[in-house]
Amino acid sequence: MRRSYLRAGLLALLAGLATAPAACWRERPAGPNVALLIFDTLRADRLGAYGYPRQTSPALDRLCRQAVLFAAAYAQASWTKPSVASVLTSLDPTAHQAIAGRAIDEGTPLSIDSLSDELLTLPTALASAGYRTGCIQTNPNIKAKYGFAQGCGDYQYLAGDNSARAVSAAASRWLEGDKPGPTFLYAHYMDPHMPYTPPHPLGEAFAGKGGSDPNDIYNVAFYRSIYNNVLNANLGLAPFQPALIPDARQLRRWKGLYDAEVAGLDEGVSSLLSTLQRGKDTWIFVIADHGEQHLEHGSMGHGQALYEELIRVPLLVYGPGAPAGRIVAEPVELIDVFPTILDLIGVQDRFHGLQGRSFAAALRERPGAAGRVARRAIFAEVDDSHAVRARPLRMLLSGRLKLIDNEFRGDRELYDLDRDPAERHALDPNATPEVQEMLEELETIRTRDRQRAAELPTPRRVPMDSETLRQLKSLNYIQ
Ligand SMILES: [Zn+2]
Repeated sequence: MRRSYLRAGLLALLAGLATAPAACWRERPAGPNVALLIFDTLRADRLGAYGYPRQTSPALDRLCRQAVLFAAAYAQASWTKPSVASVLTSLDPTAHQAIAGRAIDEGTPLSIDSLSDELLTLPTALASAGYRTGCIQTNPNIKAKYGFAQGCGDYQYLAGDNSARAVSAAASRWLEGDKPGPTFLYAHYMDPHMPYTPPHPLGEAFAGKGGSDPNDIYNVAFYRSIYNNVLNANLGLAPFQPALIPDARQLRRWKGLYDAEVAGLDEGVSSLLSTLQRGKDTWIFVIADHGEQHLEHGSMGHGQALYEELIRVPLLVYGPGAPAGRIVAEPVELIDVFPTILDLIGVQDRFHGLQGRSFAAALRERPGAAGRVARRAIFAEVDDSHAVRARPLRMLLSGRLKLIDNEFRGDRELYDLDRDPAERHALDPNATPEVQEMLEELETIRTRDRQRAAELPTPRRVPMDSETLRQLKSLNYIQ
């Protein structure tokens, strides 16, 4: 067994993972390879596989035809840090406490939440099960210094070229390493994230003349000002300026630039998908950490709300024996990915305390396998800003009803997603008998998550360095 397995296993044990049996890392590694590809800011409905008419995603559509597609997969938050932390820990944001992206505590420098090293992460679990683990990271919110490299035997942060092509190349190089044992790869792609700077000729193809020119004012600066106008007004930081609402033509270009970014992502990931699919015994999980708003509900970007365009994300799973072309309509959550992977590689009994539920039954070819995923309520939450812990938004999806409890504004929104999938016509929560039960369920979840968080040491905030600050500004997280 390689030294890195031992180190990862020992670290896991030293970190107080009482739930992981001490002997597991000594066992001979066995089982299939696993790849988790997280696409930052990728809306499900902008992929051909999910019905989008523009040709944004030929490679992912190809994968989809050989994979299982989850039509209703939900992220636990609508921006990177809490959502990815939920994927990696199988815990709701309130439970893992990696919530704030910037915090200005009086008298202290700008700081940022860190993922507690008391938590079991997916890479740590797989490393302790004998996997060679490699992580390719591109988002500054979830760098190693903020606790997001736990369990990554090999870790790379691509600070320069972080295009999909570069991420795929780094991932392929790592996979080609001549090392024994099964592999777990986590690759994080940033392409559809703002600023929208698609490669040539995709920018022109999807957004028109100048679409790939980063100096074109309509590609970056103009939309940045629109985004900041909406965001600052929502947060009460500045008055809303009506002159900065894009007209129909400008909004079309904005969406076109986003589509071009998605197409660039698809083009850049295609080679890695081919490499992974050549491996006979490899599970590929494709997800997004959250989506993106294009003024559907008065805002742009992500992180401020819990509408479908933000939290309903793509989820494709390809692997040995998985039924090609199956579509699973039952809702699942991203916290389910971790226990599903453990289930698929046969080590689910070794780890406890995960909040998600395995949907591995939906990935196994069984004649007449109906009811593959038990119906249950889906939960998501987000702070009202990236900075403030108090007054979060919380969402419960129960059957066709979706309730958003907006403690920031002190109101509630209720939608019937069967009749109104775009959430345009809010129902009266006071006139809907199911709402009381949904509120009680939200309270039960909050109590459970707070109890879980209480087991952790005080959330650790790490001072933000100038390099991270510059990177976050370039991505519009901080002005
Ligand atoms: Zn993100």
